[in-house]
Amino acid sequence: MVMNKEDIQEVKALLSSPQKIVIIPHKNPDGDAIGSTLGLFHFFKNQGQEAVVIAPNDFPKFLKWMPAQEKIINFEKNKLTAKRHIDDATLIFTLDFNHFSRVGDMQESLEKANGTFIMIDHHQEPDDYATVTYSDVSMSSTCEMVYNFIEAINGISKITPEIANCLYTGIMTDTGSFKYSSTTSRTHRVVANLIDNGAENMAIHNKVFNTNSPSRLHILGCALKNMVILEEYNTVYITLSQEELDKYNFKKGDTEGIVNYGLTLDNIIFAVIFIENKEEGIIKISLRSQGDFSVNEFARTHFYGGGHNNAAGGRSDDSLEETTTKFVGLLSNYKEKLKG
Ligand code: 5GP
Ligand code: MN
Repeated sequence: MVMNKEDIQEVKALLSSPQKIVIIPHKNPDGDAIGSTLGLFHFFKNQGQEAVVIAPNDFPKFLKWMPAQEKIINFEKNKLTAKRHIDDATLIFTLDFNHFSRVGDMQESLEKANGTFIMIDHHQEPDDYATVTYSDVSMSSTCEMVYNFIEAINGISKITPEIANCLYTGIMTDTGSFKYSSTTSRTHRVVANLIDNGAENMAIHNKVFNTNSPSRLHILGCALKNMVILEEYNTVYITLSQEELDKYNFKKGDTEGIVNYGLTLDNIIFAVIFIENKEEGIIKISLRSQGDFSVNEFARTHFYGGGHNNAAGGRSDDSLEETTTKFVGLLSNYKEKLKG
């Protein structure tokens, strides 16, 4: 879906004068969140606008090559600077999320902010905080939507290699390298245009995926060993305790994507990973499915989370063991839906 005409007019009017722009991804930003925020950042900077990206917390090392990533303000580490930018902002873009609760400790600053909010996002059930809400759950990625946004305001000819590299990265990571069901012919056309405009596709694949560290491979091995297959429910779950993460020298990003391994097993349509985080006192949960089983609904109903039909996240305040026991107990209510 493209943006509606009134929204395009409103955005064009806003951008026709100098703005103080703040661009915000969700907490624990992934490739799509960082790619979309940086892509838009470059676009605005090139138009002579004042712009900054403020992330609620740090992002994984495999994204730390992206153009201007070093300029991202980490709210957790630079609260005063970040808050000053948010207070002064005239325009605030929130990308790849649709609810203030997704920015962690930054929530309060956003609630107080006076700037005009513009949301660009592809998750379900958007909140209504934004003046312009560009929300479309059928989209492969927020990066594809940023491309559409730039197109809507007649900016395609202004896509530089920096912008192309950023947007390509997010589309690639959110589509599992162009294979998930949200990947359309339009997605491929957008990606083709990004390559024509300087996205270095092979280099990006290498930088994002061929960056395994010993810690990541050890944690992957541990995770796969811990995998529990519940054939009755066509379900797989994996646990990683804090003790295991410490033992293998866990670093941010090391557990990214591990949950997907479960779905590569024949007949498995539901895969979940439970990752203990002692510092935050929670179990972080990632859920994936194949077909009609909605992990968004499952995460929303039982684990304070949400996301998409086939990829969602959530958390639990119970112990790792209590959480998996609760999880396994819940499955019997979903037996029919999990038949596949
Ligand atoms: P992941 O499992 O990769 O962290 O997240 C999968 C998808 O679910 C992403 O689109 C992410 O934005 C969303 N997601 C992850 N954690 C949460 C959460 O706690 N709440 C909500 N609403 N969405 C989440
Ligand atoms: Mn996304």
